[in-house]
Amino acid sequence: MVANRGEIAIRVFRACTEMNIRTVAIYSEQDMMHMHRQKADESYLIGKGLPPVAAYLNIPEIIHIAKENGVDAIHPGYGFLSERSDFAAACIDAGVNFIGPSPEVVRKMGDKVEARQAAISAGVEVVPGTDGPVKSAEEAVNFCKDHGLPVIFKAAYGGGGRGMRVVRKLDEVKENFNRATSEALTAFGNGSLFLEKFIERPRHIEVQIIGDSHGSVIHLFERDCSVQRRHQKVVEIAPAPHLDPVLRDKMTRDAVNLCKHVGYENAGTVEFLLDNTGRYYFIEVNARLQVEHTVTEEVTGVDLVQSQIRIAEGHKLEDLKLTQEKVKLNGCAIQCRMTTEDPAKQFQPDTGRIEVFRSGEGMGIRLDSASAFAGAIVSPYYDSLLVKIIAKAQDHPSAVAKMLRALKEFRIRGVKTNIPFLLNVLENEKFVSGSVDTYFIDENPQLFQ
Ligand code: ADP
Repeated sequence: MVANRGEIAIRVFRACTEMNIRTVAIYSEQDMMHMHRQKADESYLIGKGLPPVAAYLNIPEIIHIAKENGVDAIHPGYGFLSERSDFAAACIDAGVNFIGPSPEVVRKMGDKVEARQAAISAGVEVVPGTDGPVKSAEEAVNFCKDHGLPVIFKAAYGGGGRGMRVVRKLDEVKENFNRATSEALTAFGNGSLFLEKFIERPRHIEVQIIGDSHGSVIHLFERDCSVQRRHQKVVEIAPAPHLDPVLRDKMTRDAVNLCKHVGYENAGTVEFLLDNTGRYYFIEVNARLQVEHTVTEEVTGVDLVQSQIRIAEGHKLEDLKLTQEKVKLNGCAIQCRMTTEDPAKQFQPDTGRIEVFRSGEGMGIRLDSASAFAGAIVSPYYDSLLVKIIAKAQDHPSAVAKMLRALKEFRIRGVKTNIPFLLNVLENEKFVSGSVDTYFIDENPQLFQ
């Protein structure tokens, strides 16, 4: 069973079907006609009368359906319940295998303060920050006096690029502390905050790792996710362009050490910020499959979802031919997140019926999507991701050329998409040369035209 919807549910069903595993979907009332329902062998309505998102968060009902229908494992996808340790625990208590890390590891990694502490004790450098939650505005001011500005407030239980506030002036610390606390409370149900030094002009580099239940952990190299809008990833690249091989070795080793240290099982991502002097700092672990896992699959040839399932079955990495020596990088892959957002209107989500849909295809192009076809209805209820376009080629410039060619082949009418924006990003000289940092989108307002 996939306790999720949309493209990621389909991604997992595809992996299962190839493995001769029967699949079960759950769907909300709003998703009655959604494609992920059709791609599974069985499907069950959940959350009758509940709001659209709440339906996918209703743990007792999901577990009940799983038990009633003889489900033996649940994949949580990303978002929704994927990083909820109580969900992982509820699955296990019900005798259903949870395809992910243990509940204890999910809990630890979901708390950014605890994750930082785990990194420190594993000998991994973290961004200088507070040891625990910041309890008062005065404490925040004192941290800034000791460590200097700028700083960034982060919600301890935040995610998805939300709950962060950058502060550059001492007299603005208090006000931002109060605002960030109430924002975190509203968004994550917990106002707990911590402070980090704000790293100027970093690149976001993250390491894909995978561990088995026998204590082995390996990495599958890194991704560069520096192209971000409001701290959210838009374009992802594997491997990171021009990354010094010595640095790559160190970062991947740190990621593996951290995961071994916490007893990490299954797939996960260790995120770092790399500054322009070559220093890098741990920021967080995502204890789940990421949206951008695709680019890693393209450059390593490893099916991460199938590996996740085999690991949950108890297989050893080496039985799956997943040893560090055997995992090799080949070529370059770029993913664009095509959304139904209008770049001309501050990325306002657009909804309605897709009247015309023709996709970019051909050699080296992979499309992961759910509702991307003529006649599909784009609803306002869930996130606006329409298609993940992945281009794979021998090197970065040829992957860029392939992506541009594919993006230009798309014809979509009925809903607005961010294709014009993606084209601007991919055509930008800095992007083509593989040298963007996280300031890229903010500093280039012409990308929005
Ligand atoms: P989330 O869990 O919401 O995705 P992250 O901690 O992964 O939050 O951070 C998301 C992005 O925010 C990073 O990729 C980076 O661009 C920015 N960011 C986070 N922490 C810092 C920091 N200390 N300095 C500079 N940028 C940061």
